[in-house]
Amino acid sequence: MAKQEDDFKKVISHAKEYGYVFQSSEIYDGLSAVYDYAQNGAELKKNIREYWWKAMVQLNDNIVGIDAAIFMHPTTWKASGHVDAFNDPLIDNKDSKKRYRADVLVEDYVAKIEAKIEKEVAKASKRFGEAFDKEQFLATNQRVVDYQEKADSTLKRLGKSLENEDLADVKSLIEELDIACPMSGSKNWTDVKQFNLMFGTKLGASAESAMDLYLRPETAQGIFVNFLNVQKSGRMKIPFGIAQTGKAFRNEIVARQFIFRMREFEQMEMQFFIRPGSQQEWYEKWKENRLKWHLSLGMGEDNYRFHDHEKLAHYADAAADIEFRFPFGFKELEGIHSRTDFDLSQHEKYSGKKLQYFDPELKENYVPYVVETSIGLDRMFLAVFSNSLCEEELENGTTRTVLKLPAVLAPTKAAVLPLVKKDGLPEIAHKIIEDLKWDFNVIYDEKDAVGRRYRRQDAAGTPICITVDHQTLEDGTVTIRHRDTMEQQRIVISAVKGIIHKEVDMRTWLQKMA
Ligand code: ATP
Repeated sequence: MAKQEDDFKKVISHAKEYGYVFQSSEIYDGLSAVYDYAQNGAELKKNIREYWWKAMVQLNDNIVGIDAAIFMHPTTWKASGHVDAFNDPLIDNKDSKKRYRADVLVEDYVAKIEAKIEKEVAKASKRFGEAFDKEQFLATNQRVVDYQEKADSTLKRLGKSLENEDLADVKSLIEELDIACPMSGSKNWTDVKQFNLMFGTKLGASAESAMDLYLRPETAQGIFVNFLNVQKSGRMKIPFGIAQTGKAFRNEIVARQFIFRMREFEQMEMQFFIRPGSQQEWYEKWKENRLKWHLSLGMGEDNYRFHDHEKLAHYADAAADIEFRFPFGFKELEGIHSRTDFDLSQHEKYSGKKLQYFDPELKENYVPYVVETSIGLDRMFLAVFSNSLCEEELENGTTRTVLKLPAVLAPTKAAVLPLVKKDGLPEIAHKIIEDLKWDFNVIYDEKDAVGRRYRRQDAAGTPICITVDHQTLEDGTVTIRHRDTMEQQRIVISAVKGIIHKEVDMRTWLQKMA
């Protein structure tokens, strides 16, 4: 645990030191769970967004993108169920005065059991070596079976009590499991209460005429209310999807863990409209498709897993999370939800407008069903950033800090470094930059010895360094150095662009999804 915390602290301080993420309004001591993206962070975030947009919108001829407003008519949130049901169960510890999400306390308890199972598996795998059969071990080792049973039954009970709004039972569960406040160790809990997560605000100049509004807690509703506009103006035929990225706001009860859980964050969502009855098939397809998108970035298959929901949201008939191994354990990164016709039907009811589709093949009108994919851009940022940061022991006994960002997402694609600040080398370096900057984000760096500059670029995540030296003056070649392998090649200046292109081209990366 201590190592995990330590690693996570390193992630946070590295993000600040290398210009990725700053605390919001830091000079006023910051604002809890609100963060600003710095010069490199804004680029990384933009690249992740673009990687998603290309995969979802540009490469699918039946998916289009929109950009709906953050403010929406307040009835939207009555219809969607957010006014009545967008609650989290909160619980306070009377001694430490700390507030927690009751469901998260139980889920963390289960995560600890799962960690124990992983430990047993690792131990056994070491003991049995090649002959180790994981499936068989999980099914037959009594200790592991007992752990798994405890984890499953706990989550089942939590799911049931939340579904039935039985908050007293959630409290009983916390007490029965002997869960203590992580800060104080005390087990002196208040009752569990519901807490609505939407931020309210007002629209209008005078107090009498002002209208109560909410900051949207998800981008999805901006898609639903535009369903018919997009379908008609785009002459879309079912099945088709509408995608959008944008800010969402939630007054989270406990917002720790850096940019994992923020009060203002960005979502990348896609609603896929389908024929009623085909939801199971599309749900499975989108689960598979989204996992492929993640895997295309090469961040390790073992770092992802699906988690099927026990407790379904009020709108869903099936739901799963893609979980990622964050520095603090496996947690939700993306949700895939089969939302039925809940949202469109509700908007029909509250607006009095028909939101139906005439299916020319079936020759009938219906309210389409929806499968949604919803990923937090900030969470994806944290997944990419934390997974990329590593310390490497080098052959000469020294260590280096490297941010091995997938090159396609790296904020700066190449740094151009003159070996010395004289003899005409800076001029050649600037000329190379002048040419490359039309295609890639590149930077010039002439300060310090070249070895230190390499280290700086490694830590900042730049995949390629191009060094101009005295030989360049003679034969027009430069050294190109790759961040991950530290390999160096001598190439002619005219070949530089092609090499960078090969490493960072979105097409090459996205084709790995096929
Ligand atoms: P959680 O259980 O972690 O609160 P959720 O199930 O409420 O998340 P959804 O409503 O399904 O999340 O939102 C879709 C995605 O939006 C999540 O998978 C996550 O990546 C992202 N997300 C949700 N809440 C936050 C937040 N407070 N900060 C950052 N990202 C968030």
